[in-house]
Amino acid sequence: MAKSLMIVDDSATMRKIIMRTIRMSGLEFDRTEEAGNGVEALEKLNAAPVDIMLCDINMPEMSGTEVVRKVRELSSCSETKIIMVSTESSQDVMDSVMADGANGFIAKPFTPEKFQEKLSPYMN
Ligand SMILES: [Mg+2]
Repeated sequence: MAKSLMIVDDSATMRKIIMRTIRMSGLEFDRTEEAGNGVEALEKLNAAPVDIMLCDINMPEMSGTEVVRKVRELSSCSETKIIMVSTESSQDVMDSVMADGANGFIAKPFTPEKFQEKLSPYMN
């Protein structure tokens, strides 16, 4: 089934690297969106929900953990799977963002295999 993806990261370079790594992983999406901050992400999600969101944690203005909380308030995004992609990988941070409604975690630096492993369960 066709899937949609949104990459939320304040670094345009990192968004490009993630997109390229996804392509290398063999995962295919029919629609991909990017957002450079939480406000932009929420605006785009309000216009059109996505199936899978990859979300940075350390971002100015609105942190990824706050983005997760706000996305979980959107009834249109109740089925959206949220995978955090971050250098911030302490157990405390992971536990708290998972409790807020994230579905998984990929540590930076990452590999195509890691995206394959973490995202394929949501591709059917
Ligand atoms: Mg960042």
